Amino acid sequence: MTTLTKQIEKKKKSSGGNMMDNVLEQFNSAAEYIDLHPNIKRILSITNNEIVVHFPVKLDNGEVEIFTGYRVQHNNALGPYKGGLRYHPTVDIDAARALAMWMTWKTSLAGLPYGGGKGGIQLDPSKYSEAELERITRRFTFALADNIGPEHDIPAPDVNTNSQTMAWIADTYMSTRPPAERTANHHVVTGKPDGSGGLEGRDRATGYGVFLSIKFWSERNNETLEGKKFIVQGFGNVGYWVSHFLEQEGAMLVAVQDAFGSIENQKGIKVEDLLNYTKANDGSIVDFPEAKAINKEEFFGVECEILIPAALGNQITERNAHQVKAKLIAEGANGPTNGEGERLLLERGILIIPDILCNSGGVIGSYFEWLQNRNGELWHLDEVMPKLDKKMRESLNKVFEYSEKEGMELRKAAYCIAIKRIEKAYVQRGIFP
Ligand code: NAD
Repeated sequence: MTTLTKQIEKKKKSSGGNMMDNVLEQFNSAAEYIDLHPNIKRILSITNNEIVVHFPVKLDNGEVEIFTGYRVQHNNALGPYKGGLRYHPTVDIDAARALAMWMTWKTSLAGLPYGGGKGGIQLDPSKYSEAELERITRRFTFALADNIGPEHDIPAPDVNTNSQTMAWIADTYMSTRPPAERTANHHVVTGKPDGSGGLEGRDRATGYGVFLSIKFWSERNNETLEGKKFIVQGFGNVGYWVSHFLEQEGAMLVAVQDAFGSIENQKGIKVEDLLNYTKANDGSIVDFPEAKAINKEEFFGVECEILIPAALGNQITERNAHQVKAKLIAEGANGPTNGEGERLLLERGILIIPDILCNSGGVIGSYFEWLQNRNGELWHLDEVMPKLDKKMRESLNKVFEYSEKEGMELRKAAYCIAIKRIEKAYVQRGIFP
């Protein structure tokens, strides 16, 4: 191997490369089990479209930097492409491909009229000012042009993007339409602020869905969440909200890891106190006074019953799966557990509620927002949360029952259900021409 090839291989392994292996391994195993038609397997093993854009943005100091943005559209057999935009140094074409595939399975499993897509920009947002991030976002939207659209491909927030990012995208996209069509394009993104076409409750939808998954598990075991210890990797949108709801049910947060450090307190970390602390400290949990710092490597081995990865992919692997003390892993993040890590965990009898089920509350919330915009309606929090509850429980029931009936782990059960629904659409419609 040349040095350059080695560097590329190393980079792939550190970011999307592993995630792609992971999602394909999961897909192949389920496809084999349900005896998926080879033609449909071929279609689903590859992405429909991959858009890579390079675009210039003026920085605050007057210099111009060229950024690289991605949008991968995996499959749209069930409806428009749907999935988040991530701003992170690990975003590359492989990561976007893997994450887009996960979205296809997730939207199918949730019974939504969507396909799967994902994208983002390879950058570290902490290095840019708010004004620069706004210009980067708007210019990225302009570069994507008609590759996104309210009935074609609908982005949403993901790591390091939020409702503000979505407001900029919606505004830029709408501003580039003819005047009479502008407001009809409001639903080009979901996860907007609730004053700008966003859905009340979309902010907490993913974390609430993760919480409901954990609650569902405890109810099936005839237990309550009172006093149960949990740890969370990632204290952003998903990590915070799931902690918030678990604490309300009497569970206790005992350790947190974010991009900056890891902390533990076996007597409990107050979720709102930690949130207020991170708000005052550039989003970091480091030096939170009501907990002690621990080593990064110790985090997954912290004493607890529930582990919630809610940061990046490929975090629980053969390197650390043996340390895990939890009985339950509820995957808030996409692709946090790799194949080898999962095998070790399952051997030890640890239950994993898989990402495409566990964190699907976000895309269900996004669907509600899209419907609300499309129909010119405004839904309130007290109608949104019961609707979300109902849809999540339907999915949880389906997957737990299939897993029991077929004697397989939850992830494979979720994949089988998701892939069968897409297969049905292909069988009914045939392949053009
Ligand atoms: P976010 O940007 O709000 O928060 C990310 C958190 O992860 C931050 O606390 C950050 O410090 C931490 N983090 C980053 N790198 C880390 C590292 N190397 N080690 C430990 N922590 C690290 O992002 P989010 O929206 O909460 O998304 C988190 C995960 O949930 C992602 O995998 C995302 O794809 C998935 N997800 C998000 C949504 C959603 O609606 N936001 C929906 C479904 C799935």
